[in-house]
Amino acid sequence: MKVGIIGAAGRMGRTLIEAVQAFDGLTLGAAVDVPGSSLIGADAGELVGQGKLGVALVDNINAVLNDADVFIDFTIPEATMANIRACRAAGRRLVIGTTGLSDDQKAELHAAGGDIAICFAANYSVGVTLCLKLLDTAAKVLGDEVDIEVIEAHHRHKIDAPSGTALAMGEVVASALGRDLKTCAVYGREGRTGARERQTIGFETIRAGDIVGEHTVMFAADGERVEITHKATSRMNFARGAVRAAAWLAGQDRGVFDMQDVLGLRD
Ligand code: NAD
Repeated sequence: MKVGIIGAAGRMGRTLIEAVQAFDGLTLGAAVDVPGSSLIGADAGELVGQGKLGVALVDNINAVLNDADVFIDFTIPEATMANIRACRAAGRRLVIGTTGLSDDQKAELHAAGGDIAICFAANYSVGVTLCLKLLDTAAKVLGDEVDIEVIEAHHRHKIDAPSGTALAMGEVVASALGRDLKTCAVYGREGRTGARERQTIGFETIRAGDIVGEHTVMFAADGERVEITHKATSRMNFARGAVRAAAWLAGQDRGVFDMQDVLGLRD
């Protein structure tokens, strides 16, 4: 099966080129990045020091829609939306890793799932997918007796906050407790904030250096606290998971799925 990578010159895109090459049964069919990039025309293999793969980096997905069965997109929300429209029109499957989509953009993504198969996850690592299951259990067991805070840290180049993974963790916890994250989330605190309200879920964001991605969800009671932490030290975890999702998506005709589906963890 042939895979196309969009955002191929980026941090995740380059790691994805290597992950596709290492995955049995998959080959790189296309590589796309932003118009105006000085890397357009370069061979995708040479971007990752692997020698020529015979796949040139192009600046328009429409030129390569026939060169891949499934596309993997790790770009920015505006580009992802254009790629969803192109894949929907051409009947191509799509794995989306881009974070920071607005509610309207997510609604359009879900509508596209009526026509094509899409995998959309804020985090493609197996470890984080497992943590989401553990968080659901922890929230149900500890219930409304604890204060819940989500703390995340990423590298200085990250452009959205809190991270998509932190929000996904908050959504799992809120849903397990029957809360609406939109009304109970508190993003950072400063000044005279008043005492903490039990029903809130707090988010703290750190941006520093080259941190790949760290998330802790704290369930704090009087006298004890439980913390569930995930630390990524390499982007290869995300890339391997996204490539695994691309292979799994080949068996789906339409619908919107996430890593819980890919790993068979859906209840
Ligand atoms: P990056 O800036 O290194 O790479 C993004 C790439 O997209 C760049 O090469 C950029 O030129 C390209 N791009 C921008 N506009 C484009 C367009 N119109 N057409 C084609 N390419 C375009 O960023 P990154 O660290 O690789 O992260 C990319 C996205 O993936 C972010 O949203 C990040 O939060 C997300 N991410 C998700 C996961 C996950 O597991 N879901 C893991 C890591 C990062």
